[in-house]
Amino acid sequence: MKEIIFVTNNIHKLEEISGILGSRFKIKSLKEIGFDQDIPETENTLEGNALLKSNFIFKKFNVDCFADDTGLEVEALNGQPGVYSARYAGPENNADKNTSKLLKELEDSDNRKAQFRTVISLILKGKSHQFEGIIKGTIATKKTGTKGFGYDPVFIPEGYDQSFAEMSIEQKNIISHRALATEKLAKFLSEFKF
Ligand code: IMP
Repeated sequence: MKEIIFVTNNIHKLEEISGILGSRFKIKSLKEIGFDQDIPETENTLEGNALLKSNFIFKKFNVDCFADDTGLEVEALNGQPGVYSARYAGPENNADKNTSKLLKELEDSDNRKAQFRTVISLILKGKSHQFEGIIKGTIATKKTGTKGFGYDPVFIPEGYDQSFAEMSIEQKNIISHRALATEKLAKFLSEFKF
């Protein structure tokens, strides 16, 4: 089975992506290749950060790899927190504080429209490729559910009345931003002449 490195140590993401790609590729995390440092995400776009991370690992290990970057883009906040989603309420990347801050910012807003956007940067045989996945939805007025991570308790995908955190991982996997971007990555990989 072909090996590909997913530039992450986020166990939730690894599970989600292995669920989609796992039957065709052996997906390895950074930990599995013995890399346990943080790669600073210093760019100001999702595209820039995804490329920065995949390029970093490609240059260091010379392996096929992909990295993702995701942001929650809220219409009433002009697309914020966007690329800064992880650190919205401070540098410690605390999901509970981030979602509380978001609910506070939107307290008086009737416009609750938002979208999760994922960009995946793949480096295959030394060439880079990019894939995007978007899911539209709304920001709830309170947190519900205990599954998932990050902003899942306040994000209600369009066409549903449950938050991501109330859905099973299987259900979220079918419709999520990362799933959509990963499906594009999977299609590309399955058609690629190795
Ligand atoms: P990352 O750069 O892809 O790790 O994503 C940045 C931040 O976006 C994370 O720290 C989370 O707060 C949020 N995020 C990313 N993906 C999801 C998701 O699937 N559900 C909820 N929040 C997410």
